Amino acid sequence: MNCRFVVLSGWLAMLCAGQPFTPTNPAALAGRRWREQHERAIVDEFVSLLAIPNIASDQVNIKRNAEAIAAMLRKRGVEAKLVAAPNANPVVFGQIKTPAATRTIVFYAHYDGQPLDPKEWASPPFTPTLRDKQFEKDGQIIPLPAPGARFNPEWRLYARGAADDKAPIIAILAALDAIRAAGIQSKSNIKFAFEGEEEAGSVNLERTLAANKELFSGDVWLMCDGPVHQTRRPLILFGARAGTRVDVTLYGARGELHSGHYGNWSPNPALALAKLLASMKDDNGRVLVEHFYDDVAPLSPLEKRAMEEAPDIDGDLMREFGLGSTEGGGKKLTELITLPSLNIRGMASSRIGAQASNVIPATATATMDVRLVKGMDPQRTAHQILDHIRKQGFFIVTAAPNAEERRTHPKIAMVNTSGDKTATRTPMDLPISQEVIRVVESARGPAVKLPNMGGGLPLLDIESPLNTRTIVIPIGNHDNNQHSYNENLRLQNLWEGIELMAALLTM
Ligand SMILES: [Zn+2]
Repeated sequence: MNCRFVVLSGWLAMLCAGQPFTPTNPAALAGRRWREQHERAIVDEFVSLLAIPNIASDQVNIKRNAEAIAAMLRKRGVEAKLVAAPNANPVVFGQIKTPAATRTIVFYAHYDGQPLDPKEWASPPFTPTLRDKQFEKDGQIIPLPAPGARFNPEWRLYARGAADDKAPIIAILAALDAIRAAGIQSKSNIKFAFEGEEEAGSVNLERTLAANKELFSGDVWLMCDGPVHQTRRPLILFGARAGTRVDVTLYGARGELHSGHYGNWSPNPALALAKLLASMKDDNGRVLVEHFYDDVAPLSPLEKRAMEEAPDIDGDLMREFGLGSTEGGGKKLTELITLPSLNIRGMASSRIGAQASNVIPATATATMDVRLVKGMDPQRTAHQILDHIRKQGFFIVTAAPNAEERRTHPKIAMVNTSGDKTATRTPMDLPISQEVIRVVESARGPAVKLPNMGGGLPLLDIESPLNTRTIVIPIGNHDNNQHSYNENLRLQNLWEGIELMAALLTM
């Protein structure tokens, strides 16, 4: 067996390739012992929560999710309640007061999931389904093993929210059971804040927290969301990007024209859109919108070092995703997600394939997401993009052009931008950051530490009203298909999540 010794938070630990790490953290060990004896009960509770549909717009079922989670907390003696701003989905709040504790740690997760089209799923998204491996690798549906029987850690549970983001809630609940059973006390006050509209942009979170500052106050919020590192090693992220949405529609004639009778004469908005989009990025994927990168806050030396120490995963990911090349001019994925991005989410014009007809389209539309990093202002970035579109000769409107506008402007673009979130990063050298790193590594072994995650989280919606810090602690498997169809959780990630949460609950 290929093993090596490492020093983790002052403990000598042995690391063996392919072998699960043996925690040096007693609470994490208690978490493993508890899990080994309660796998079926843990999965049953998980299945019961996953079976409740959780799309944010479905307020009836969202409420059922929130009440179910509050009941699961109360069952463990945790004081729990639903907190909701007017017309908002409830935040499930819970707390454990620790006598003589001098700090408070808040655990955040979200119980809502991304909207979906059930037709795209191999099994119904709200009928949790166990498979013996990944569906893409011909994973077969299998029954839950009998109580007392063990689960194969490579089995996967398929359902919306399995990884994003009900898994951390279940991991926290099982960890609470484990530390209770082992008689291990928390040294901090512990609070839980489980949100119900993260996938809908957390539009009410800031005002819900601002209206309940005392209740949600804490020294640090641990954001339990997202996937661990692609090497399956634990990952700690000290920030997130923020998203702005840009919708662009270009116009040709008032209606579709016959391409034979009017080709070469009537402008084609589909081609114009292709050219406009191509003008926004170079062949390496670098954004060509002027001043786009001006406000990017530089990485600190510690952030740079952490990024450089992260394992090189590009080759493996290219193989896994079937990519023959990547953007970024040779830069690694780990570095590229610390930079802002401009992504075409989708585009459409007239019809294609069997539905296509010999016409010049009347419109062409693209929707983009722009990911901002710390230092960037969403309004300023939106203006830079509008300026870029103007520089391509377009007259910009925010609603479909009227006859006068069509007559006076040869090139018209309807552009709407939305999203006012700004990005943030928590300094890695803060005492709380260093302590979280120590605890994570005592539970899960050497962690990959990155300045920010590529995706978005409502970090500033939390930090601003509560004057606190956020650190992202993911547990999901990177190949979980989150936001898409056949979302799943690898059971080993849940098991390791329980150990990690046990350690963090007792720090
Ligand atoms: Zn999420």
